[in-house]
Amino acid sequence: MPELPEVESIRLQLEHFLIGHKIISIKVNNRKTLAQDEDKLVNAKIKSVRRFGKALCIDLDNGYSAVVHLKMTGQFIYRGPRLKNPPPLDKKLVGGAPGKHTHVIFELDKKGILYFNDYRRFGWIKIVKTAQVKNFDFIKKLGPEPLDGLTPEKFSEIIGKTSRSIKLLLMDQTKIGGIGNIYANEALFLAKINPKTPAESLSHKEIKTLYKAIEIALKKGLKFKGASEQSFVNPDGTTGNFQDHTLVYGRQGEVCPNNCGGKIKKIMLGSRGTFFCSNCQK
Ligand SMILES: [Zn+2]
Repeated sequence: MPELPEVESIRLQLEHFLIGHKIISIKVNNRKTLAQDEDKLVNAKIKSVRRFGKALCIDLDNGYSAVVHLKMTGQFIYRGPRLKNPPPLDKKLVGGAPGKHTHVIFELDKKGILYFNDYRRFGWIKIVKTAQVKNFDFIKKLGPEPLDGLTPEKFSEIIGKTSRSIKLLLMDQTKIGGIGNIYANEALFLAKINPKTPAESLSHKEIKTLYKAIEIALKKGLKFKGASEQSFVNPDGTTGNFQDHTLVYGRQGEVCPNNCGGKIKKIMLGSRGTFFCSNCQK
């Protein structure tokens, strides 16, 4: 699932491509993706693109917004005047765009077009009044943003309250918004903390180190425009390449990057692949 760096990479491109475009018409091929009356979004100009945790929010000048969750395989693809020489669509766009997994097509003015593809079909688009976005259930329940709003004090408070494993806590969107499996693994390796450690047993020093490690891991993901080992693509149709720069994620059996002599192990924790070095992360 796209996490904060992937969704932020999408947001940055959408902001560049979409702001000022007017939505001329919307074609909905799958009512599971967009169940409401799409006419509320038509004949309005796009004025901003925001991100809340792993969700996007496209705000229009008519008082409505489209809140979008990509879930496992949601993808936005833009074609139009703001992208003069579009790169070829990566093969992670299963079926192409438009194609059999294109569920919503936004026809924009000036010959622009925005496709929403989703082959697993868990993604959703909800139409919400812009003034109500922060009260929209999914967004209301989100924890603070790790790169904007989560203070070390708040982080310490969240961690001290539970005996759950620290990795599962980091991935709980109601506690902290935006961290998923990839960046939880990377941050815990950087902080030399075993993913199974009960959160409340971390020392003050470990909490401080982890706070910093989360920032480092997320910023590195942003620098490489996200990880595309699965279905993530940017709206220009290209992939990110953080997957080539991970320290432990997806690297089971490889030598520990700290050169401790150990190898990266993979275990399952909360049914998610968990990668760590048992030498460095005791
Ligand atoms: Zn190691």
